[in-house]
Amino acid sequence: MPSYDPDNIFAKILRGEFPAYKVYEDDRTLAFLDIMPQAPGHTLVVPKTAARNVLDVEPDDLAYLIKVTQKIAKAAMTVFAADGLNVFQFNEPAAGQSVFHLHFHVIPRKQGIALRPPASFKEDPAVLADQAAKLAAALKG
Ligand code: AMP
Repeated sequence: MPSYDPDNIFAKILRGEFPAYKVYEDDRTLAFLDIMPQAPGHTLVVPKTAARNVLDVEPDDLAYLIKVTQKIAKAAMTVFAADGLNVFQFNEPAAGQSVFHLHFHVIPRKQGIALRPPASFKEDPAVLADQAAKLAAALKG
C-alpha cells in the first residue's frame, strides 16, 4: 500500500488550506459535508491523524472515529428527516477510495430514493452552507 500523502485534499482541509462546510470538530476528528453528495446531508468524518485508510490507522483512532461517526449519524437522521442511513468506508482504489485520508461517509436516506452515483452531482454552495449550519447546530445542542 502506498504511504500517506500529506497533500491530499482532506489533509489540506484539516490544515485550513482548503475550505469545507464543517459540521463538527473536536481535538481528534473533523466532519464536513461532501461537496458532491450522493444524497442530501452526505457527510464525511475524518480523523486528524495521518491515516490513509482503515488499513494503517491506529486502532484507538479508528475506535474514536466510529464513535464520532455515530454521533453525526444520529444528528443527520433528525436534521435531514431520514428514513435510514448508510455508513460507507472504502480502502484503496480497487475498493472505490478516491481521497487517501481515512473517512467515513454518513449518508441519510429517504425510503424509495436511490443514491446518486459518486461524484455525479456538485451541490449548490448556498444549499451546502444552509445544511452545514443546521447539522452543526443539532450537533451542538
Ligand atoms: P471516497 O471515494 O470514499 O474516497 O470518497 C471521497 C469523497 O470525497 C467523495 O464522495 C467526494 O465527493 C468527496 N470530496 C472530494 N473532494 C471534496 C472536498 N473538497 N470537500 C468535500 N468532499 C469532497
